[in-house]
Amino acid sequence: MKPVVMFDAVAQVRALRGEIDEAIGRVLESGRFLLGEEVTRFERDFAAYLGGGGAGVAVSSGTDALELALRALGVESNHEVVTVPNTAVATVSAIRQLGARPVLCDVDPITGLMDLEKLAACLSDATRAVVPVHLYGNMVDVPALRAALGDRSATISIVEDCAQAHGALLGEQLAGTLGDAAAFSFYPTKNLGALGDAGLCYSADPEVVRAVRSLRRYGIEDAAGARREGINSRMDEIQAAILSVKLRHLDTYLTRRRTLAARYDERLDPAIPRIPAAEGVTHAYHLYGVRLRGREAAQERLAQAGVGTAVHYPVPVHRMPAYAFLGYEPGSLPAAERWAEEVLSLPLYPELADADVDRVAAAVNDAAA
Ligand SMILES: *Cc1c(COP(=O)(O)O)cnc(C)c1O
Repeated sequence: MKPVVMFDAVAQVRALRGEIDEAIGRVLESGRFLLGEEVTRFERDFAAYLGGGGAGVAVSSGTDALELALRALGVESNHEVVTVPNTAVATVSAIRQLGARPVLCDVDPITGLMDLEKLAACLSDATRAVVPVHLYGNMVDVPALRAALGDRSATISIVEDCAQAHGALLGEQLAGTLGDAAAFSFYPTKNLGALGDAGLCYSADPEVVRAVRSLRRYGIEDAAGARREGINSRMDEIQAAILSVKLRHLDTYLTRRRTLAARYDERLDPAIPRIPAAEGVTHAYHLYGVRLRGREAAQERLAQAGVGTAVHYPVPVHRMPAYAFLGYEPGSLPAAERWAEEVLSLPLYPELADADVDRVAAAVNDAAA
């Protein structure tokens, strides 16, 4: 039988090939390859999609979107930024790009999201920002996070890491519209994926938007040249044109992701722990995760059955060699460490067939038995 892969990079391109070819052709004829009309259109359309009255600034990656959002909000090398250990290492490397100190908050053992009860212990006089990660397409309750900051919320900014959460909702509000700024990634596997690297910073604060616009282009704003020290983080016109094509289909893709997730919910053995949507959240199912004791062996058996899986993430950031200097001992962030030992992501993308879900679920039920 044909294997079920964790992610099919070709299926979506094939389905959209006509529209994508047309979009790329338009850019080739325009002679403008960076920060042109396509980028402007995508920024406007994506911000309108989010609907929070803010604006989008297209950049080269999700990592850059995080870094520039933090920088625009005034984070500097003597500051601390609180985030979680069970995330893409990019969340932490963006903080380090500024020279700031990442402080890692343990997570809720059931949802894997930042544990707001543990947040207060992570704050100090140097704390300048918190980066909640909307892991797997689930969502941190950002208003509750703000409330947990109490009086400190006037001086601590919230930057939502929305790299996995395009289309997730808390109540009626889309991920990205609840913090002071938000960072989106359009890495090819994400819910809205480019055919290369791309990212976007969103904010309803015109000052933040102006700063990120300037920071992505060497800090240049006007005839004075660089008004701040910026970097080069432009988005390609070709990626913007492709993203505009895919944005038109995003809601269809999200509906399909939710349908497939509901099918997994139904077909998986009820004894296998899932990762539930947090209260009030309409999950965007970038990833569908289960938890298995003896995960390595189960993953091996699934591979033998022709089922591709992945682990997000096998090593929590504080246990990575590059971040040993942060000084976290093994066992210091127990919920995140246990998460890393047990979670397994199953194939889930809009082009996946219902029958594939049934096959994967049956194989997982076997492997877990
Ligand atoms: C993908 C991802 C990033 C980084 O995005 P890039 O576009 O690869 O730079 C950051 N945070 C999370 C949670 C991610 O999943």
